[in-house]
Amino acid sequence: MIIQLEHQISEDEKKSLLRELDKLVKGGTEVSTQFGNYIVAIGRSGFDIRSIGNLQGVKDIHRVSDPYKLVSKKWKLDESTIKIGNNCSIGPDSFTIMAGPCSIESEEQIKSTVQHLVANKIPVMRGGVYKPRSSPYSFRGLGMDGLKVFYRHCREQGIKIITEVMMVEQIEEMYDYVDIFQVGARNSQNFNLLDALGGVDKPVLLKRGISGTIPELLQSAEYIFSNGNENIILCERGIRTFEKSYRNTLDINAIAVLKDRSHLPVISDPSHGIGVRKYVDKVAMASVMAGADGVILEVHEKPEKAFSDGQQTLDYLQAEKLYSKLMKLYKLREDLDQL
Ligand code: PEP
Ligand code: MN
Repeated sequence: MIIQLEHQISEDEKKSLLRELDKLVKGGTEVSTQFGNYIVAIGRSGFDIRSIGNLQGVKDIHRVSDPYKLVSKKWKLDESTIKIGNNCSIGPDSFTIMAGPCSIESEEQIKSTVQHLVANKIPVMRGGVYKPRSSPYSFRGLGMDGLKVFYRHCREQGIKIITEVMMVEQIEEMYDYVDIFQVGARNSQNFNLLDALGGVDKPVLLKRGISGTIPELLQSAEYIFSNGNENIILCERGIRTFEKSYRNTLDINAIAVLKDRSHLPVISDPSHGIGVRKYVDKVAMASVMAGADGVILEVHEKPEKAFSDGQQTLDYLQAEKLYSKLMKLYKLREDLDQL
């Protein structure tokens, strides 16, 4: 159950509400975000919710039977739009493309990517400076030095930055240089990191775990929301299956299902989702039709020279073609949605 509180609820009203609630369900968790104040209560379902709904200070009350509550569409039918600064947003009224290398490698690489993005009107650049790698001997990123150069060039050209944060301790040092914090597949259930990102007033792109289920992803998002941050973007990035013909299986189904179960925007990551360059465009296009609010793509001037994930990275020409196909498909989807 979610109880939405009036903005001006007094402490006394809140106390009597919590007292009343205690009689009916097992306690309640208070949640305050950028946009609202809520109490989330879990417990018995067979009582008349009007006994709470009529109390002073209560704006609305919703029964939500899902294991995830605040991120569920059961109480918030309007899809959420996440604002990235003043001139970029991710949500139901747009299709957002984010692109860039798997890893930030050098100033030259950053400059070249920024130029490519500006020329193609792509608003957000991706690039990891802290890289989760299967082998400890692989390139693990340039860290804060790389991020500062990344930031300087993007800011000069008005490009927003998305980059992965791997540890709670990194949040503070990264904060000033990041527009969207990415939580990678390997940290999808790092609950301490999710708790901490709940205390941040910047958007978080949360990837699905390598073997994560849809309810697990949504409950991870619930950690962030319930700690105070509503600005969450879900990301389908492929799951591990028995199929060995490609790196991962982009779960197109999940895009449709997530859009149905949650009010949060959903982004597809076809690069990691299939992991093979020549198929990335096909699954990216399928993602549009499945209802994605955008894509995040790995793009590099010379993919064969990339420090990581070159095998799934598009070169500039391939990327440019794909951007225009995706925007055309998005327009088509909007038309089809009118039928
Ligand atoms: C990445 O985006 O480069 C990355 C490491 O992604 P994932 O966490 O989905 O593997
Ligand atoms: Mn990668």
